[in-house]
Amino acid sequence: MKNHKLTCHCGAVELRVDLSDGVNTAQRCNCSFCVKRGNISATAPLDGLRIIKGADSLTLYQWNTKVAKHYFCKVCGIYTHHQRRSNPNEFGVNVAGLEGIHPESLGEIPWSDGINHSKDR
Ligand SMILES: [Zn+2]
Repeated sequence: MKNHKLTCHCGAVELRVDLSDGVNTAQRCNCSFCVKRGNISATAPLDGLRIIKGADSLTLYQWNTKVAKHYFCKVCGIYTHHQRRSNPNEFGVNVAGLEGIHPESLGEIPWSDGINHSKDR
């Protein structure tokens, strides 16, 4: 697995992530939260993410069932990662925060049907 550096915009938060399958898992999500923040996330196993700096700059947002944990930088507001509700053994990480990877280079990003969440069916 390739190790990636992930930073927020202001640089307060820095993570190292091992993605489960590189950026092949990149996806958008149509749930009410993801649509508004416009994010693209990729999958990392829980033990594949380390906070290098800025743990105290991360803040947590939870909504609806309050199972998923969405983390973002409280200084610049950029989403860094979230622990998934659909699979709590996984993090989603912000593809646009990965050093050296620009979302434009990924082409069409598939959408996941978060509005009809797997845990709600
Ligand atoms: Zn920041």
